[in-house]
Amino acid sequence: MDRLFRVIEDATDEMVDFTAELLKIPTVNPPGDAYVACAEAIGRRLAACDFTVDYPVAEGRPEHTATHPRMNVVGLRRGRTMRPLVHLNGHFDVVPAGDGWTVDPFGGVVRDGKIYGRGSCDMKAGITAAVYAAEAIRRAGIPLAGSIEVSGTVDEESGGFAGMAWLAQQGRVSADRTDAVIITEPTDTDRVYVGHRGVYWFEVTTSGRIAHGSMPFLGVNAIAHMGVILDRMRRELLPALAARTTAVPVQPPLARHATLNINGIAGGQPVDGIQTPCVADRCRAVFDRRFLAEEGFAATRAEIVALLEEAAQTVPELAYELRDLMVVHPVKTPDGASVVSALDGAARTVLGRPLVVAASPGTYDHKHVDRIAGVPNCVAYGPGILALAHQPDEYCAIDDLVQSTKVLALAVLGLTGSG
Ligand SMILES: [Zn+2]
Repeated sequence: MDRLFRVIEDATDEMVDFTAELLKIPTVNPPGDAYVACAEAIGRRLAACDFTVDYPVAEGRPEHTATHPRMNVVGLRRGRTMRPLVHLNGHFDVVPAGDGWTVDPFGGVVRDGKIYGRGSCDMKAGITAAVYAAEAIRRAGIPLAGSIEVSGTVDEESGGFAGMAWLAQQGRVSADRTDAVIITEPTDTDRVYVGHRGVYWFEVTTSGRIAHGSMPFLGVNAIAHMGVILDRMRRELLPALAARTTAVPVQPPLARHATLNINGIAGGQPVDGIQTPCVADRCRAVFDRRFLAEEGFAATRAEIVALLEEAAQTVPELAYELRDLMVVHPVKTPDGASVVSALDGAARTVLGRPLVVAASPGTYDHKHVDRIAGVPNCVAYGPGILALAHQPDEYCAIDDLVQSTKVLALAVLGLTGSG
C-alpha cells in the first residue's frame, strides 16, 4: 500500500500535466467539439500505460456527424483473469465556458495548487484519476487477479446517448462482462454518489394571435400568456416544491427538495433583429424539473398539466401546448453494493474517515450503466468539488486529485483482487 501511494505521489506532476493537456482540448458540448483529439489524447496515455485501446464511434446516432464525430475511447488491461472486471468511466465533454472567468478556461492554467479550466473538476481531473489509479497499480508491480477498463466518453452533458448509453447498448459495458463501474465525477473527495433525482424536461408553447402593435387589443399576446404561466409557477409551484424533501441523502442539502429551473425562453420577434409593430403570436420556454424518488414521474407531470390547465381556464384565450423533452427516472445503487464498501474502506485508509454516502442533485451516466448495461453495482467517486462544476474559474485542487487517485487505486485493488 505504501508503495502504491508513493507511486501516485511521485506521478503528481505527470497527472497535473495530463489534466492540463486535456483541458487545452476544448471539447465543448454543445456542439461536441474536438472529441476525436481528446479521445486520442486519452487513448495515447492509456496505451502508454499498457492498456489495449479502441475507439468506439457512435455510428448511426443522429448527433454523430462528419463535423462533430462522436468518438469514445476504451482501454482494457487484463489481469490474470478477465473477471472481476472493474470499469472506470469519465466523460470528456464539457459545458461552454460562459462569462466571468479570470483565467483562460482552455489554457490548462496551474496556479496555487489548483488546475483551472472548463472541465477541470467536471471531469477531466476525474479521467486522470482513473488512468493513474490503474497505472499506479502497474507501476507498484502489483499483479491483478481481475481486469481494469478505463473509458472516456462523450456527450454526458447532453444526456450521454452517444457516450455511455452507446457503450452499454453495444454490450461494451454490460452485466455479462462488467462487475463494477466507478464514474469519476467530482464528489468532493470524501463522498460517494449512489444515484440521483429524476429529471423531467419539458417545453411549453403559448400561441396567441398576431395584430398591429399599436392596437394590441386586436391580438392575443403569447408572451403575456407565458408570463401568466411563469407567475403561477413562481407563486404556487415553487413554494410547494421547496416544501418537499426526499429521504434519499442528496447532497448539497438544498437539493433534497424538488426543484424547477427555466432553461430558456423565446417569443415574438428576435430582439436583435429589425423590429416591426406586432403582437407576439408565439412564445416557447423550456423547463427543467428535478423530481424526488418519492414524487415519481407520473405525479410530477400531472402537476404541470394541472397548472397549465388552470391557467388556460382562468385567462381568456390562453392557449398552450406541452411537449415532453426528456424523462430520467431516479436511480439508486443497491444497499450493500461491493463498489460502495470498496471505496469506503479505501477512503478510511487514505483519508482517515469514512465516505459520506450521498445522492447527486443532477443526473449523470449512472442511469445508463444501471438501466441499459444492467450493472447496478455503480457509483460516482472522484476528485474535485461538485459545486464548482459549470461555474466560472472551475478548478480541481492537485491535492484532491492525488488523494482521490489513491482511494480509487485501493478500491480497484479491492474489487479486482491481487495476485
Ligand atoms: Zn460531469
